[in-house]
Amino acid sequence: MIVEDAICSFCGCLCDDINVEVEEGKILRVRHACRLGSSKIMGHGRIVSPMIRKEGELKEVSYQEAYDRAAEILLKAEKPLLYGWASTVCEAQKKGILLAEEVGAVLDSTATVCHGPSVIGIEEKGLPGATLGQVKNRADTIVFWGCNPAEAHPRHSLRYSSNVCGKFTPEGRSGRKIIVVDVRETKTSKNADIFVKIRPGNDYEVISALRLLVAGKGELVSDNIGGVATEELAGLARGLLEAKFGAVFFGLGITHSRGRYKNIDNALSLVAELNSHTKFVIMPMRGHYNVGGIGQVLAWSSGYPMSVDFTRGAPYFNPGETAACDLLGRADTDAAMIIAADAASNFPRAAVETLAKIPVIQIDPYENPTTLLSDVVIPCAIAGVEVEGTAYRMDGLALRMRKMVDSNYPSDEEIISHILESVHRQREKFSNKGASGE
Ligand code: SF4
Repeated sequence: MIVEDAICSFCGCLCDDINVEVEEGKILRVRHACRLGSSKIMGHGRIVSPMIRKEGELKEVSYQEAYDRAAEILLKAEKPLLYGWASTVCEAQKKGILLAEEVGAVLDSTATVCHGPSVIGIEEKGLPGATLGQVKNRADTIVFWGCNPAEAHPRHSLRYSSNVCGKFTPEGRSGRKIIVVDVRETKTSKNADIFVKIRPGNDYEVISALRLLVAGKGELVSDNIGGVATEELAGLARGLLEAKFGAVFFGLGITHSRGRYKNIDNALSLVAELNSHTKFVIMPMRGHYNVGGIGQVLAWSSGYPMSVDFTRGAPYFNPGETAACDLLGRADTDAAMIIAADAASNFPRAAVETLAKIPVIQIDPYENPTTLLSDVVIPCAIAGVEVEGTAYRMDGLALRMRKMVDSNYPSDEEIISHILESVHRQREKFSNKGASGE
């Protein structure tokens, strides 16, 4: 059987032209996906059974035992952290928010260590955005700033940006101007018409200079900004102004360099100002395939897109205080549930040290460094491959992911529902005991 036009659940491109050959419930071949996507869809090294740490070692247990232990940990904790959510579907994320409200937890997503600054910048300034389809069909100038899609989003250029032919861009690559701004040469910069190499941590200054040049105030720009000569910057500004439809894609090179969300704030202002001269849009290159989804689900449920504290009875949001790394860094959480993410590989050392000291529940199809410090491990079906559901592409478009094969593993949504049931049961048991004076 061939599953046609399936969606790849690896990166924020959510390529929806994947053909998957299935025989006797097994995936034999994946067509059209890049190597990253194929490897995810084919699967590898699954966690076999639920486990609980007993006397220092993870021991296999039943699913019910794992659900009950997870519920017990969350109920006993004063301020549990529910972190991850980027590689699962919106249906599971929605259930996760119910769990956070029920146990009084802080819920945060992987955006906190990737595009969190973009989320904050966009909240402040608004987003002059577009769909990837509009970029494909209309953009004659494309800027990649602090990102390397040739390696991190391998089919981005072929499906949506540099190399694809669109309705009003029939010449594809030869009809487009590709500009790359980065601190080093990359595979993406090798395909660029203009490569501007800037000094690390100087994105804000370079963007500010471009804003002056776009506004016709070049005389205020000093000789060398961020390691770039003024003439080179003036050429870049001219390139932007000559566009009929320009699109800026940006990555962690700008969100996590000096200035952080202020860099994004400044870049959004530059794009807004370019719109006084021509049409320009801007978009973050989202990494995990549904990191956009958790932002959407959290925003429509609580009013905030990430780092939401549900411990006060009403949602509270203050990144710098309520983000996962803030809580862990100052040891202000006493239990964690890590789902669809690998915190131990991505967090700073101080945060991982706290994780190692508190009870950790892991929900994931695969073993990863977080497994090593987990006390309860619950394996799940792979969302987007073995479970259908909704995900948001990097441009904010919601897409329905179809199931490719059946699985004996429960979905993330089912696992959270079972933990929620166990929370209710244990709480009821406790209150009954209290009422009978036991
Ligand atoms: Fe999958 Fe991303 Fe590769 Fe597309 S570019 S096939 S979504 S990993």
